[in-house]
Amino acid sequence: MYTRLERNDECWCGSGKKYKSCHAAFDDKIIKFESQGIKVPDRSLFKTAEDIEGIKKSAVINMAVLDEVGDKIRAGMSTQDIDDIVNDVTTKMGGIPADLNYEGFPKSVCTSINEEVCHGIPSKDIILKDGDIINVDCSTILNGYFSDSSRMFCIGDVSPEKKRLVDVTKECLEEGLKAVKPWTPIGDMGHAVHQHALKNGYTVVREIGGHGCGNAFHEEPFVSFVSKPGTGMLMVPGMVFTIEPMVNMGTNEIFIDEDNDWTVYTADLKPSAQWEVELLVTETGYELLCW
Ligand SMILES: [Zn+2]
Repeated sequence: MYTRLERNDECWCGSGKKYKSCHAAFDDKIIKFESQGIKVPDRSLFKTAEDIEGIKKSAVINMAVLDEVGDKIRAGMSTQDIDDIVNDVTTKMGGIPADLNYEGFPKSVCTSINEEVCHGIPSKDIILKDGDIINVDCSTILNGYFSDSSRMFCIGDVSPEKKRLVDVTKECLEEGLKAVKPWTPIGDMGHAVHQHALKNGYTVVREIGGHGCGNAFHEEPFVSFVSKPGTGMLMVPGMVFTIEPMVNMGTNEIFIDEDNDWTVYTADLKPSAQWEVELLVTETGYELLCW
């Protein structure tokens, strides 16, 4: 349960002010939602100004890495070449690739091509071909702060069907962003994403979603993109999370590669696309931190 401090205590936010003249009213608002049966975030999920600065500096690296990948990516290149770019740019800028060794993940970035939904493992044997679509999902640690975003790249001449999937998936993310409003449940956001995908004849992966991020790689809450309105955790200013729907051309069913225990595929082997941003919930909406 969300608890108040004593009125004259120093505020929990680190401002040095007294609680009553700092976050007391903010906490009262949260407690009011909680009393209505709405799931509310733990105070540990609210980022301080220092945290937000740290995440933004980490994101500068993450976005530079994805920019560099975007400049260089082309048919004939291996996904190991992408991994090399990610590792080089990240470390030269003073960061650490967050994916590397994360729960045993062997590479610095995830590269997921066509029917691969996510967690594709870079390899010198996987060569990009004309007509491929690929998601490059990159995460950086700088001074203990985590940034996370992913982009789609179209290799050469991509079919109109695949191009539309890539474009609509981006629109799904944008619909989600429009639904990021403070003091509303996060299920509203996921619902907006899902509806846009369905309207376009696509499905959305249920088992894997977004997450809180910033002081750790994966924080609460789990962010679903197939959620019902009015459900899920309250979006409160100061929270940082990712929006990263995985949108499938065919079934929403998926399976995991038995050989590497990482790579997720669509069950019907039809293409899947994903875009990811990391955002801060603000008093008026949101601020993008990493994209
Ligand atoms: Zn405060």
